[in-house]
Amino acid sequence: MTQAARSAAPEGRSKPPAVLPWQHEDWARLGALLARERLPHALLLLGLPGAGALTFAEAVVARLLCAVPPTADPLAAACGTCVGCRLVLAGSHPDLHRLEPEEGHEQIRVDEARAAVAFAGLKAGQGGLKVVFVPQAERLNVQAANCLLKTLEEPPLGTLFLLTTHCPARLLVTVRSRCQRFALRPSGRPVALAWLEAQGLPGPEAAARLDLCRGLPLDALGDAAAEQAALYADLVAALAALLSDGPEGDALWLSRVAGERTHATLLPVLTLLCEDLLRLCSGGGTATLAAAAQVERLTPLKGRLTREAAGQWVSACYASARQGLASGLKSDELLDALSLSLHGVVGRMLAAGGEGKDPETARRR
Ligand SMILES: [Zn+2]
Repeated sequence: MTQAARSAAPEGRSKPPAVLPWQHEDWARLGALLARERLPHALLLLGLPGAGALTFAEAVVARLLCAVPPTADPLAAACGTCVGCRLVLAGSHPDLHRLEPEEGHEQIRVDEARAAVAFAGLKAGQGGLKVVFVPQAERLNVQAANCLLKTLEEPPLGTLFLLTTHCPARLLVTVRSRCQRFALRPSGRPVALAWLEAQGLPGPEAAARLDLCRGLPLDALGDAAAEQAALYADLVAALAALLSDGPEGDALWLSRVAGERTHATLLPVLTLLCEDLLRLCSGGGTATLAAAAQVERLTPLKGRLTREAAGQWVSACYASARQGLASGLKSDELLDALSLSLHGVVGRMLAAGGEGKDPETARRR
C-alpha cells in the first residue's frame, strides 16, 4: 500500500473510514474526552500510519463534520449520508482544510501554513465546526510550524486543529506544547491477525507478513510486505553464501545485497532473519516465524551455524541499530561495518571448529 493510500485521501471514497478493530477502545476514549471537556484547540494524535493512525484521524475528522449529532453509542461513526458527510467524502467540505505538502514536495512550507491560518480566520460555511487537518505533522518545516504557533494557541472560536504524527520529537516543542496529546494504542497481535485474515490473507501468510512488517497490520496488507519478503529471501541467500565461503568470502557482502536500499530499510529485516535463525538453532519451531515461507532454504543454514554464532549475529544487528542512532555515520558506512561484523562471526566460528563447518566447503579446501 502506498503512502497516499495509507493516508486515506477522501477522493473517491464512498463512505466514511471505519475505525479499525484494535482502535475501538481509543475511539470510545476520545469520544468520552470530547464529550466531557470543551473541545481542545488542537489535538495531536500519536500513532504509526502502518497501525492505522491516519485512518483513525480521518474517522475523527468525518465524525466532527457530520451534521447528525453523536448517538449514545460510543462507537457511532459519521453517518455517511448527511450534507456534511457527503461534502467530506467528495473532498469539498468548505470547513475542512488539509494542511499537507504541495505536490512534489516532502515538507509543508510556510505558504501552505499561511493558507491554513487564513482558513482558520474565515466564518464556517456550514455553520458548524471548522477543522484544520494536518496528517503527518512532522512534515511541517520550521518556518511553517512557526507560522502556525499563534493560531494554534488561540484559534478562532469553533476551529479545531487535528494533527497526527508518529514522531513527536520532530515537531517543534512550541507546537507540541500547544496541542492536547492523544496516544493511540498499538494493535495487539491476535486482533491484527484476525483482521488480516478477514481481509483475505491465509493465517500463516498473515503471521509471516505481520512479522516482516514489525506488527503493523496496514503495512502487512500492502506492497511493503512483498518488498520485505523479497528482501528477506535475498538475505537468506546472502547469509548462505557467507557461511559457504567462510573467511575468504566477500567481507563487504551487505552493500551488494542492499543495492539501493538503505541501512534503515535493511536492518529490521536482517535482524528478524538473524533472530529467526537463533530460534531455529535453539530448537524453536517455525510456525510463527516470517521464515515460514523460507523454511526449506533456512534449514541448511541452521545446520552450518552454531547457536553461539547466531546469537552473535543478532547482537551485531542490535549494535548496528544503536550505531545508526548515535554515530552519524552514513548508510553505506553502517552497512559496511555490519557486513564486517557478521563476516567476522563466521570466521571465528569456523576457526573454533564449530558445528557450522559446511561439508561442501571442507571438501573444496
Ligand atoms: Zn453525517
